[in-house]
Amino acid sequence: MSCCDDIKLTRGLLPLKQAKEQMLASLTPVSELVEIALESSVNYILASDILSPINVPPFDNSAMDGYAMSQESLAQSLTLTQVGKSFAGQPYLGDVAVGECIRIMTGAKLPVQCDTVIMQENTCVNGQEITFKSAARLGQNVRNLGEEFNQGQIVLSKGTRITPRHVALLASLGFKTVSVFRRLTVAIFSTGDELVALGQPLADGQIYDSNRFALIAMLEKLGVDILDYGVLADDPALIRDTFIKADIEADVIISSGGVSVGEADYTRDIIEELGNIEFWKLAIKPGKPVAFGHFDNSTFFGLPGNPVSAMVTFYQLAKPALLALSGGVVEPALKITAKLTHDLKKSAGRLDFQRGIAQYMPDGSIEVSSTGMQSSSMMGSMCLANCFIVLGQEQGNVSAGEDVTIELFDSSLT
Ligand code: AMP
Ligand code: MG
Repeated sequence: MSCCDDIKLTRGLLPLKQAKEQMLASLTPVSELVEIALESSVNYILASDILSPINVPPFDNSAMDGYAMSQESLAQSLTLTQVGKSFAGQPYLGDVAVGECIRIMTGAKLPVQCDTVIMQENTCVNGQEITFKSAARLGQNVRNLGEEFNQGQIVLSKGTRITPRHVALLASLGFKTVSVFRRLTVAIFSTGDELVALGQPLADGQIYDSNRFALIAMLEKLGVDILDYGVLADDPALIRDTFIKADIEADVIISSGGVSVGEADYTRDIIEELGNIEFWKLAIKPGKPVAFGHFDNSTFFGLPGNPVSAMVTFYQLAKPALLALSGGVVEPALKITAKLTHDLKKSAGRLDFQRGIAQYMPDGSIEVSSTGMQSSSMMGSMCLANCFIVLGQEQGNVSAGEDVTIELFDSSLT
C-alpha cells in the first residue's frame, strides 16, 4: 500500500460505489466445477451456458381442451365430424381429413393435418357431429414446435445463480444434473468480551452475541458452507490465531466487532498485519468501519459490531462479493422511487441506508415511511422494515412529500 493510499484509508471515507467496484475488481472467482443433481442445485452458479438439447415445445400441441381441425375444414363448414381423440402422452395416430376434427386435450399432440384448436366451451356436441359457434384464426390455441426455444439455443448464461425458476426450466429441458462452480466455505466469528452465548444468563455489562446468528442465517440463504468459530474474547493472540486458521480452512472469513478505533478493537490491526486491507472506512451509514481485503488464501470482511451495521454491510458488500467469488454475475440492486410520508433527518457526508416501510397505495403510487429510531444498535428497525431508504452521500434533510430512492429487501433478508 502506498503512503497516499494510506492517507486515503485513514483520513478519508471511501464512497460505497467506489469501494464496491474496487472490491469486485480484486476478487478471483473459484474455478473448480462440480456436477450437481438438479434437485440440489439451488444457489449454485452455472459454470457454462446452457444450450437447449431439444426444441421447446418438442411437438405442436394444444393449449386448450377442445377440438383440433384444419382451416380448410372450417372454411367449408362450422360442423365437423369427430374421428378420434388425442390425449397428452397418447397422440391420435390416424388421419384427419377435410370435414373432420378430433377431440384434443391440453398438451396433446396436434395431428399433422390440423392447424387450429377451438376450445370446447365454443362448441355444440351432437354425437360425433361437432358444431363450432364461430371459426378461429390459423394457429389459434396451438403451441408450435420450437416456439419458445430451438434446439441448440442458449437458454441460460454462465454465471446465473440457480433459483427455483431456473430449476423449473432446466427440468423441462431434461437436465438431471448440471455443471456448477463449487460452493464457497465461509468462516465466521464474533469478537467482544461483552458477548454471551445464547442460553446463558447475562451478567452486568454483557449482551448476547446476535451478529453471528444473523450472519449465519443470511449465509445459509446464499448457499455457502459455513464454519462457525463462535465468539472470541477481545484477545489479540486468539483473534490472530483464529484468522490464521480460517485462512487455511475457508475461502472467505467474516468477523464482526473490533474494526473501529476503540481500545479493545484489535481486529483491524491484526488483519492489517496478516493480510492486505483494501479499505476499512466507508462513507456509509450505518457501517462506517468495515474492513475488506485479502489474506494469502482467503478474502476477509471485518464487519462492524453494531448489529444493524453488521447486517447492512454484509448485505451491501459481502453478499455481492460472495456471489462474485462463486462465479456469479453481480447485478445492481433494483431501486425504485417512493414518496416520503414524513420529514427525515440526514446530514451530508455518508450514503445512508435508513430502514423503511414501503407501501403500494390505491392510486398506484408507492409511499415509504421510516421505521423510527435509526440507531445502528436497534435490530427492531430491521424487523419492521421491508426496504432501505437510500439517501445519497451529499443529501441533507428530506421533507415529507419528496421522492426518495428505495431498495426493497431481497430474499436474503426476507
Ligand atoms: P465494536 O465494533 O466491537 O466496537 O462493537 C460495537 C457495538 O456492537 C458494541 O456495542 C458491541 O457490544 C456490539 N456488538 C459487537 N459484536 C456484537 C455481536 N456479535 N452481537 C451483538 N452486538 C455486538
Ligand atoms: Mg468490540
